[in-house]
Amino acid sequence: MEKKNIDWASLGFGYVQTDKRYVSYFKDGAWDNGALIDDPNIVMNECACVLQYAQTCFEGLKAYTTEDGSIVTFRPDLNAERMESSAKRLSMPVFPKDRFIDAVKQVVAANAAWVPPYGSGATLYLRPYMFGYNPVIGVKPATEYQFRILTTPVGPYFKGGAKPITIRVSDYDRAAPRGTGNVKAGLNYAMSLYAIVDAHEQGFDENIYLDPGTRTYIEETGGANIIFITKDNKMVTPKSDSILPSITRRSLMYVAEKYLGMQVEERPIALEEIGDFVEAGLCGTAAVISPVKKIVDHGKDIPFVNCQEEMGPTIKKLYDTLTGIQMGRIEAPEGWIVKVM
Ligand SMILES: *Cc1c(COP(=O)(O)O)cnc(C)c1O
Repeated sequence: MEKKNIDWASLGFGYVQTDKRYVSYFKDGAWDNGALIDDPNIVMNECACVLQYAQTCFEGLKAYTTEDGSIVTFRPDLNAERMESSAKRLSMPVFPKDRFIDAVKQVVAANAAWVPPYGSGATLYLRPYMFGYNPVIGVKPATEYQFRILTTPVGPYFKGGAKPITIRVSDYDRAAPRGTGNVKAGLNYAMSLYAIVDAHEQGFDENIYLDPGTRTYIEETGGANIIFITKDNKMVTPKSDSILPSITRRSLMYVAEKYLGMQVEERPIALEEIGDFVEAGLCGTAAVISPVKKIVDHGKDIPFVNCQEEMGPTIKKLYDTLTGIQMGRIEAPEGWIVKVM
């Protein structure tokens, strides 16, 4: 298979149309067999449930080339499980886990020419998503759905090294207590757009959100979980019902404990105590870990002393170990790497 003629290293994080996408339709209470198709456009009724009432959820994962030349994905079973919980919370039908993993394999194999080569730093980003598309005007769940996976090649997240970012404490909330913060719903992103545009205008890279119930504890940013490192080298990460359970963060907790012999704590973390931490990082599929230089709380700087110019040493170790596992340079725990071809 001949790769597409693309300058992989200079790709950004934007949509590039690839050859094939996967689609399965849900109608009369059942999913059809699914298929790979060529048309990237979707035609639907003006009153489709997704357009009127935002009945949609999504996932994000990557396919990439490992050191030995295989094309693989990372823990797609966890994406399938998380999409199941998102679908249930939004009254959508569940796309079965075995079919989800099979669809991932099919769509990656069909777009193998778009999977960047090992060492380029680029990956093929996969976006599984589901939406209700029959006309609905009285408020109720749709009865017809599409499950789809689109793919798009994305460049190396850090061009020329990971530069620590500055985050502000947001005055907006990203989730409601007992709301949908713990599922991957498009609606959680729609309401964060105003806050992120405003943060950028004010010179910040991201917003960190507080717990919506009491606004005392740290939760996460609009699209990434957060981890902290203590002076005595413990990894600490917030626990809350309104945080989206990041697969990267859960993998890093495992790596910290089992590969690096660190202590790991998942617990409520008060905004007041974060000045005690020496390193901080945002974690998600796109960047794996982005180091955080400081959090700004209404004009008050809270710096992380070991993350000023570059990733702190412990976060770097976590990053190197997890990316080493993903790229096939370090032995992976059972089931983490799913080979496509
Ligand atoms: C997708 C997402 C993350 C990151 O999850 P990963 O599985 O690590 O990619 C974190 N927070 C939110 C709100 C998200 O939507």
